[in-house]
Amino acid sequence: MQHPSRLPLLESVLEAVSAGIIVVDAAHRIVLWNKWMSRHTGCAAHKALGMDLFELMPELRGGRVEAAIRQSLANHFSSLLSPTLNRAPFPLYSNPAAIGRGERMQQAIAVTPLAFPAGQAGSHCLIQLSDVSMAASREKLLREQTEMLRLQTFSDGLTGIANRRAFDAAIDREVRRAKRNSGMLSLLMIDIDHFKPYNDHYGHQQGDGCLIQVSAALQALLQRSMDMLARYGGEEFAVILPDNDPHQALRMAEALHARVLQLALPHAYGGPEKQVTVSIGVATLLPGQPAVPAALIGAADAALYAAKRAGRNRIVAAQPEQPAAGPAP
Ligand code: GH3
Ligand code: MG
Ligand code: MG
Repeated sequence: MQHPSRLPLLESVLEAVSAGIIVVDAAHRIVLWNKWMSRHTGCAAHKALGMDLFELMPELRGGRVEAAIRQSLANHFSSLLSPTLNRAPFPLYSNPAAIGRGERMQQAIAVTPLAFPAGQAGSHCLIQLSDVSMAASREKLLREQTEMLRLQTFSDGLTGIANRRAFDAAIDREVRRAKRNSGMLSLLMIDIDHFKPYNDHYGHQQGDGCLIQVSAALQALLQRSMDMLARYGGEEFAVILPDNDPHQALRMAEALHARVLQLALPHAYGGPEKQVTVSIGVATLLPGQPAVPAALIGAADAALYAAKRAGRNRIVAAQPEQPAAGPAP
């Protein structure tokens, strides 16, 4: 088989390749400028050839591209310019419409010393450019989708507050932190009173609306970033209060309870108040007590149950157990 002559072959490859190829000499004069460069800059080869690259594109002066070219010519170092740090240093456009809009393509740039003619290191420098706009926008979309999924995984679809999964992770984390700092940690369990009759009489949709209003009212009172309101179950909410002692937790429970009363949501089929109310159980993990999330949740739940038994629309605080005599586990 006949081999084609290498030089014309290389030339046609250079013109067909989907990347920008520039070669500059030691005085940064352009000695090679392929078709891709002409197409994406709007500057034809006959105009570019022989010009100083930094005169043709003055904005490259003083930037990372100039530094890379100087490094290549003087020290024979290769450089890859990261597309995240250097999004679009060359005035390159994907198509003529993008030129009109001034919308540059995002670029990956490699600068390599060329020993040309052979043996003459530092005489020329090869600059390769490629369009990474597509990859960059795909990556951005992927990042946004990942963040959205992350938020969805940890938030309740109806009320938008933290869901049970987020609560489970947070209570584990906060119990461990309290143990590490020998600090306190309070937990409130909040349950809407007579919610089944509310649903039965006003309908499930209005029931949903009630859950949204109650959760928003509760959330509005929590000002510290470390406090977390979560939807624990159907019409039951939990509030994690790091560093709060029993007294502070009780005050917060009173404020939350009053806030729900202020909403004055009519409920003709519940208790004597004829409006939506909540019952709240309060428990606190004290220094020296076993740092077990289930025990704290159990104590707050038992207090909530006591509030229900005592007539609902009230707050009951768990009696703090005496700290264990021995060392904490
Ligand atoms: P108590 O005062 O003892 O808490 O009585 P209750 O009627 O509130 O308690 P119960 O646990 O018997 O009923 C809870 C009701 O909450 C049952 C269910 O219909 C309703 N529920 C749970 N999740 C949702 C929801 O997402 N939307 C609506 N609309 N209702 C819900
Ligand atoms: Mg209830
Ligand atoms: Mg309930």
